[in-house]
Amino acid sequence: MAFRHVMSSELNLILLGPPGAGKGTQADRLRDDFPLAYIATGDMLREARTEGTDLGLKAQTYMEAGDLVPDELVIGIAVERIQADDARDGFLLDGFPRTVPQADALGEEMEKLGRGITAVLLVEVADDEIIKRISGRRVSKAGRTYHVDYDPPKHAGRCDVDGTQLVQREDDKPEVVTARLSKYHEATSPLIDYYEDQGLLRRFDGSRSPVEVHDHIRATLATLRLEDEL
Ligand code: ADP
Ligand code: ADP
Repeated sequence: MAFRHVMSSELNLILLGPPGAGKGTQADRLRDDFPLAYIATGDMLREARTEGTDLGLKAQTYMEAGDLVPDELVIGIAVERIQADDARDGFLLDGFPRTVPQADALGEEMEKLGRGITAVLLVEVADDEIIKRISGRRVSKAGRTYHVDYDPPKHAGRCDVDGTQLVQREDDKPEVVTARLSKYHEATSPLIDYYEDQGLLRRFDGSRSPVEVHDHIRATLATLRLEDEL
């Protein structure tokens, strides 16, 4: 019983959904609600690329083409990151796992550590809406996300939080977005059934406004925590 309590007091969350669904946007908000370590493999890979590390150089070609970076490169960094001090009481994974082998590796590692996934939050959005979202996406250096029409910053082109200039990601160009979307359907969407079978999946209608999606997620998390205390 005591063991279960240790496991369940952590909030270990996974954000799942197509590119552009609003995972990063919801992550920004959830991080304001809960003290969760935010682990976004896309951000980690972009950082490695900027620093010119071996990993960054290897990942670059795949990322530019809208392909997934090979599992063996990504699994190591993600699994190491969930064990860092700041992630001990809970984490929010964004963009990982993205394949069944990645999900298997995460599950095995969590089991070894005596920890468990609390919930997988699936943010669902249709492909045509995704294209509109990604083409207007702008990001800050620190990874905060905006949209020129749907979620604009207070001052055009500047981050609300740190005032740095907002930019468009290289892989947010339309031709790369199509490749990323088909990769999602092929390699990542099987994780929906995977986590449904484990009873961990929670679905959210990502076509609603950022505020509504956030409210729904918060309500679900509150219910999960209540169930936990029963
Ligand atoms: P988005 O937020 O639009 O879904 P990300 O920032 O998560 O995009 O990812 C950008 C790119 O980084 C992906 O297209 C892929 O090339 C690579 N990447 C990120 N996470 C993973 C992962 N878990 N497995 C493989 N490749 C990944
Ligand atoms: P992901 O992390 O899943 O790739 P983002 O959070 O970066 O997605 O969102 C993609 C783009 O869509 C961003 O420009 C963001 O501002 C915008 N966006 C996010 N959520 C919504 C929403 N619910 N309605 C409209 N636009 C949104």
